[in-house]
Amino acid sequence: MSLLALEDITVTFGPRNKPLVTALENVSLSVAENRFSVIVGPSGCGKSTLLRLAAGLDAPTSGRLTLGGQPIEGPSAERGMVFQSYTLFHWLTVKENIMFGPKLKKLPKQNCEDIAKQLIRSVHLEGFEDAYPKQLSGGMRQRVALARALANDPRILLMDEPFGALDSQTRQHMQELLLDIWQERRKTVLFITHDIDEAILLGDEVHVMSARPGRIAKTIPIHLDRPRSIDLLTSADFMSYKREIMALLHEKTQ
Ligand code: ADP
Ligand code: MG
Repeated sequence: MSLLALEDITVTFGPRNKPLVTALENVSLSVAENRFSVIVGPSGCGKSTLLRLAAGLDAPTSGRLTLGGQPIEGPSAERGMVFQSYTLFHWLTVKENIMFGPKLKKLPKQNCEDIAKQLIRSVHLEGFEDAYPKQLSGGMRQRVALARALANDPRILLMDEPFGALDSQTRQHMQELLLDIWQERRKTVLFITHDIDEAILLGDEVHVMSARPGRIAKTIPIHLDRPRSIDLLTSADFMSYKREIMALLHEKTQ
């Protein structure tokens, strides 16, 4: 069943009577419940614009967005977000950052503590509960950001190039960690990246976007067994998906 649906979305920037940039044009996309859906596309093709719409941070120029059949009209705790740049509260500790959402929902204190404890274990940050973001590495901060988003138990997790600023080794660790967490929770995810390997490794399906104006060129189902690990990167099936996506991206950027 489709959880998130984008129907015929167009976004233009600039005055309405004289649009300067068409960031997205007639984009339709749906993300089924419990699926890990990935969007891959070149820089500037409208990926962040699309995710901001799903997050309710911006509204489309035309088209419709719904979550579970209800129109998306603003940000909500039912949509958890993780961005590339660190968006932690720098004045709160790791644990306080993670408990922020549950506390806001006025869950009992013990309940908030339990949620934080379990998530700190899932993202391997035991021992860092009382550290502040500035005391952590980039990878650790993104693990806190992931835990903080999951703490609200959102219906969907929206991730915009969350590992984009990390070095390649940390990035691979984060990909494996996310695969483990997803295997455990099967949370519905919409994940954005410009990294083709990352898209194939993580996704149940990969929506390939074309350059401006951003459109969905093709949706490719990824039939690779789970649980997955980075060992897959050298497999023949993986390579064949990679060739297909590279060809699509190349063709569209001509
Ligand atoms: P991506 O995330 O794929 O790199 P973006 O969604 O950030 O792409 O941007 C898509 C296009 O829209 C780009 O050409 C960008 O310059 C333009 N754009 C994004 N936000 C704005 C804005 N607020 N005002 C004007 N142009 C914008
Ligand atoms: Mg972007």
